[in-house]
Amino acid sequence: MEHLIELDKKHFLHPSTSIQQQQEQGSKLLVESGEGIYLKDNQGKSYIDAMSSLWNVHIGHGRTELAEAAAEQMKKLAFSSAFSTFTHEPGIRLAEKIAKLSPGNLNTVFFTSGGSESNDTAIKLIRHYWKIQGQPERRKIVALKRGYHGVAAASTSATGIPEFWEMAGHMMTDFIHANTSYQSTTEAAIQSLREKFEAEGPETIAAFMAEPIQGAGGVLIPPKDYFQEVRKLCDEYGIPFIADEVITGFGRTGTMFGLENWGVVPDMMTFAKGVTSGYMPLGGVVISEPIHEVLKQKSEGTLFHGFTYSGHPTATAVGLKNIELIEKEGLVENAKKIGAKMLEGFNRIKEKLEIVGEVRAMGLLGAIELVKDPAANENFSKELNAGPKVIEELHKRGVICRGVTYENSNIICFAPPLIMTEAQLDDVLEKVYESILSVQQQLMRTADR
Ligand code: PMP
Repeated sequence: MEHLIELDKKHFLHPSTSIQQQQEQGSKLLVESGEGIYLKDNQGKSYIDAMSSLWNVHIGHGRTELAEAAAEQMKKLAFSSAFSTFTHEPGIRLAEKIAKLSPGNLNTVFFTSGGSESNDTAIKLIRHYWKIQGQPERRKIVALKRGYHGVAAASTSATGIPEFWEMAGHMMTDFIHANTSYQSTTEAAIQSLREKFEAEGPETIAAFMAEPIQGAGGVLIPPKDYFQEVRKLCDEYGIPFIADEVITGFGRTGTMFGLENWGVVPDMMTFAKGVTSGYMPLGGVVISEPIHEVLKQKSEGTLFHGFTYSGHPTATAVGLKNIELIEKEGLVENAKKIGAKMLEGFNRIKEKLEIVGEVRAMGLLGAIELVKDPAANENFSKELNAGPKVIEELHKRGVICRGVTYENSNIICFAPPLIMTEAQLDDVLEKVYESILSVQQQLMRTADR
């Protein structure tokens, strides 16, 4: 163990990690295996993976069916290109399957290796769409504050969390962020969006991009009518709507895709994560028939965009098997059912504990906010580390969750695998209650909570 952690420090630069913490304390968890909703470390200690790792292991860990699907495809054809009109059956079949599952007229898929690539692709495709129609000045992307769209060039700029631009040293031009509906109203959020459209000039805007539920921003669930109003506003201005379903896709929120909760159909939809439950890196963009029609008729010559792994045969074969299991095992319905119970559980915890503010969930995507004074919705000061302390207490009790400390908020996020049972949920809820209670007691002992 010691040896591995030393090698880790020396050679493994980790994503989204404090480099100092890794160097001073060593990596926190050396995961060795996984089964169902559980992960096991190298000491044999078991953890409930209440985040599905990175919101993505929908069908749970250790599923041999996916290993077998990968092995079978690898033995036959591990890789072959989809460039220059070469093609292969698993890519065709998965594209067809996703088109069938996608709402409305979303019908054609461009594959990538993950969420960031998918959002960069959507942005490039929509700019290309305008350019070939003689409107090259339509380049601007309007997105939302607190939105997260990834870390590639354009997706970093579309992200509405300034730390990501600061790390990159700058933000690309032509990205604008409107207010989210979080702790606001549909009316105010739509007004902010309208003002951005007007101020920039709709004739310069290529698309509006948003997550159905802002995940990394802290699981921010919009008011019921928000996306219907977004759809209307985009239609009024003739601005395409790109939905980032990277977290919400493939059953996470109790419907196959997140926007279905509100009956809204976007013009493009990006996906990743749950499409393979993380067993293979894969993502993509689904485009509507009218957009495909324009591309077919007006795009001349080569489409100068494509990744080596766009439509990777093994990844697409694994995606097909994963979706088959999601459907066969009724995991979308399970997410809805267990998700409703998760929210009930959060509400019971809120009744019992003073420092719990808003709780929310849609399917198996939820959050608990910690606040100093729930009545006044007042946050703890940052130095108290209320959120990180709860994450630490959960870790001690064998539950892995993720904290968001955007500005002064302390949000504990939950996105357990869609296979979760009621008994497993009860176990998580009990440990969540104990962990928050323990931090509440610690904070009460601190004079200036
Ligand atoms: N969009 C959303 C909504 C995400 O949550 C993420 C990743 N957490 C991404 C895009 C980026 O995906 P990836 O990390 O696979 O590039």
